[in-house]
Amino acid sequence: MQIELRNLMEELVFQRLDEILASEQSDVCRCESCRMDIAAVALNELPSRYVVTQRGATYSKAEVLQIQRYVDVVAAVNKAVNLVRKNPRHEPNN
Ligand SMILES: [Zn+2]
Repeated sequence: MQIELRNLMEELVFQRLDEILASEQSDVCRCESCRMDIAAVALNELPSRYVVTQRGATYSKAEVLQIQRYVDVVAAVNKAVNLVRKNPRHEPNN
């Protein structure tokens, strides 16, 4: 059996981040550099939540809900989006 160590929080952050980036209301830069910067800022604010799973397995809803009860992933990602939008690492409209 192949097992792996994954940070569940990382997947939650990317899920939420990609929802924001997919919505047309947001004017945040969608380049890979900004996407990674946003994720890094948000993840530094949030506790990590490592789980051991079988390779390729998906998380149970219970695991995800448990995390959401204790930390506000949405708020952390929104904050990170605003920060990177105001201070992109590259010139505007790059
Ligand atoms: Zn960018």
